[in-house]
Amino acid sequence: MLVFKFGGASVKDADGIINLASVVNKYIGEELLIVVSAMGKTTNALEKLTKAYVDQADDMHHIFEEIKKYHFDILHQLFENGHPVFDDVANAFVEIDWAIEDEPHDSHDFIYDQIVSIGELVSTRIVSAYLNKAGVKSQWLDVRGYIHTDNTYREGTVQWDKTRESINKDLPGMLAKSIVVTQGFLGGTSENFTTTLGREGSDYTASIFAACLGAESVTTWKDVPGILNADPKFFSDTVKFDELSYTEAIEMTYYGASVIHPKTIKPLQNAKIPLLVKSFTDPAAPGTIIKEDGINKFEKPVIILKQNQVLLSISAKDYSFVSEDHLSDIFGLFAKSQVKVNVMQTSALSFSVCFDFYEERFEKLLSDLKQDFKVKYNSGLTLITIRHYGDNSLKELTMGKTALLEQISRNTAQVVVR
Ligand code: ASP
Ligand code: MG
Repeated sequence: MLVFKFGGASVKDADGIINLASVVNKYIGEELLIVVSAMGKTTNALEKLTKAYVDQADDMHHIFEEIKKYHFDILHQLFENGHPVFDDVANAFVEIDWAIEDEPHDSHDFIYDQIVSIGELVSTRIVSAYLNKAGVKSQWLDVRGYIHTDNTYREGTVQWDKTRESINKDLPGMLAKSIVVTQGFLGGTSENFTTTLGREGSDYTASIFAACLGAESVTTWKDVPGILNADPKFFSDTVKFDELSYTEAIEMTYYGASVIHPKTIKPLQNAKIPLLVKSFTDPAAPGTIIKEDGINKFEKPVIILKQNQVLLSISAKDYSFVSEDHLSDIFGLFAKSQVKVNVMQTSALSFSVCFDFYEERFEKLLSDLKQDFKVKYNSGLTLITIRHYGDNSLKELTMGKTALLEQISRNTAQVVVR
């Protein structure tokens, strides 16, 4: 069996959904599971809605109306009035109406997952209905009964045994009947609350299903021809990799290559399932294949940019050295506020850490750290990582910028710049 993942960009409008159906149409007769993300920038919009609700901001209803309008405009382009998908989508949005009716009292992360998850619940309704309309028979599956997680909202940890059991109980029978369409990014807790697996988590969903079902391969369909050495949004002369090893792909995602979610590769590597990254506009082209014996050819260095970084430097209040005890306390606070470290460096009197800026997590971390330490920070920075850097690439990339922290090892150079 095969697993396909379609990301937000591939289903951002009616044409995208029509194109998805034409890609899938070529695989009729295969056992196929399709994992779909929220449409276009819906997850960002739902994040904004969540924040507006938590802050009880004036534009809350306006943001929600825009999200609904975007989806219903697409529905009207794809279906005649009266098609049952209109009710399915409306019913999914009603969940948000209920969620935002009263003033917030649950934790931000919990509320986030209950609201943001609607993006995938709606997109999969639309995709599944459209496939059926286009003559590609499909069943819609609510993933929350299959991917079981703990209740770490916004970053659910998958409970593999339970997940494997649920998936293996129902999916083989369903896949024998028709294509199955399900939501990326979501999971469910034992109390039937919705969780999410972390931003861009739909790739991970595809890999979980593939590992549990022993798929032949996973294909993630993207708006790029495959995995490139740098993000074409920022660099013009990129090259595509035909092949990569799992290990190199893990390294790239670890440093922030957003083309694949970092947790995606490991389950596939364990089960020796190849991951294909292909273009949804050119489905016949080979794309990039990630596999155990993938050959890594680096004609150009791999460049990964992470924006919106914070560089925090922590020192002891009494100017004493930063000791092992301190470090263990500091790491404890990072873990507690769910802040993940991208680069760190110690010096005699301070400890510097670079991480992604998430407002609530950052505020929490700062207030905890300030009880025992002195802290200084810079925000709005960029972390540049260069794998297989040559003599010039580091210089070229940092030219005209102020480097606040630099770390260079044999294969990887990292610089935090302003
Ligand atoms: N829709 C989610 C996001 O934008 C998950 C995904 O696209 O993979 O983060
Ligand atoms: Mg997405």
